[in-house]
Amino acid sequence: MNLRSFLSRQVVTSEGVRPAALLVEGERIRDVVTLEQVPAWAEIHDFGIAAILPGLVDSHLHINDPGRADWEGFETATRAAAAGGYTLLVDMPLNCLPATTTVAALELKRAAARHCCRVDWMAWGGVVADNPSDLEPLAAAGVPGFKCFLIHPGIDGLTMVTEQQLRAALPAIARTGLPLLVHAELPGPIDSATENLANADWSCYQTYMQSRPQEAEISAIRILLSLCREYKFRLHIVHLSASQALPDLCAARSAGLPVTVETCPHYLHFDAESIPQSATLFKCAPPIRNRENREKLWQAHRDGHIDLVATDHSPCPPEMKRLAEGNFRTAWGGIAGLSVALPVMYTEAIARGFALTDIACWMAEGPAKLAGCHKQKGRIAPGYDADFVVFDTESAFHVTKERLHYRHPLSPYLDEKLRGVIKATYLRGKPVFVDGAFPGEPRGREHRCC
Ligand SMILES: [Zn+2]
Repeated sequence: MNLRSFLSRQVVTSEGVRPAALLVEGERIRDVVTLEQVPAWAEIHDFGIAAILPGLVDSHLHINDPGRADWEGFETATRAAAAGGYTLLVDMPLNCLPATTTVAALELKRAAARHCCRVDWMAWGGVVADNPSDLEPLAAAGVPGFKCFLIHPGIDGLTMVTEQQLRAALPAIARTGLPLLVHAELPGPIDSATENLANADWSCYQTYMQSRPQEAEISAIRILLSLCREYKFRLHIVHLSASQALPDLCAARSAGLPVTVETCPHYLHFDAESIPQSATLFKCAPPIRNRENREKLWQAHRDGHIDLVATDHSPCPPEMKRLAEGNFRTAWGGIAGLSVALPVMYTEAIARGFALTDIACWMAEGPAKLAGCHKQKGRIAPGYDADFVVFDTESAFHVTKERLHYRHPLSPYLDEKLRGVIKATYLRGKPVFVDGAFPGEPRGREHRCC
């Protein structure tokens, strides 16, 4: 078979960053060698000083297909993913219709994804009040894990679970050995905070932030940790925003509980102090908090207490953001930014002394581990899928609508100046994004762990 070699002065592997060449045969990486070891007869693609990172894995986003493809959809989400350096997306079970809570719903999602994906994908299964008997069949049908909400998810279709309902599902989840991803906020602290803010100015971001206090995350996480101790399942906290929950999480991890934690680029880039009046593009749940909290989340990265960074890309039709009205109470909560997550993270991480290897860990290897596909995805190593991104670390750019590539080009990142430009993305050995264009027919497929 034809051997192709991809050269760079900065190849990012788990061992570090070094000048190297990826030797690619078909869809796989055959070897990673020094530049001198490249066989003379191999086809050569030299990217010079542009870095080669593993294709990114986003373990948390909302594609909203089937049923709400007018919000996003597989075609546009995977196009934005390719432009953003992602080669595998793991779709959340809600916002699509039906929610992915049964095998039949999973099959409908598979049908929606057919022939239109530019990158590979997988789907989490949903845990709701009445589906404990669907969970093991979903696992057998190929979901890599489950997701549930301890609070109303802001939309009908996937219902929240109470502690009692979750208890009914946990034995089945534990038997599958798959992780349970949880939106960890409890309604109690949010309801009482919101009551006290009835007459507050809801065009002011501070009002929204105060309505979702850190206490909501902390109390949810405490319950989850005790359930984890009792039922011995793999617990994953999605989109951690409250830095005050970190001590409990760290203690549980040091005690050996199987707990992992993610946060998102928006919590690491923005801060509440800088969010303008009425700027509902910044609304998400849990909320972006203040600068001091953001720096504590970065410190948690430094201390190795955060396993991964996922986008929680959650778009909606523009009218649902109620931009004209500017009301944080009624606007849709969800941040769109899939295609710029890598430059956002690079800009912030480099400024704090982190390296490309850290980014690869948080955005490729970490999410691949969560989704159980870390033996094939998320690393540049022999035998792995030839998924990689060519990233020009020397350039900077302003975020414009043309660079977003998802269905509705809205984002709080618009006009931000970011470092690092994605030159190309390769999926299983072939380019799916090159300098702003999407070559070839969509070749993305559902990834099934072997
Ligand atoms: Zn989400």
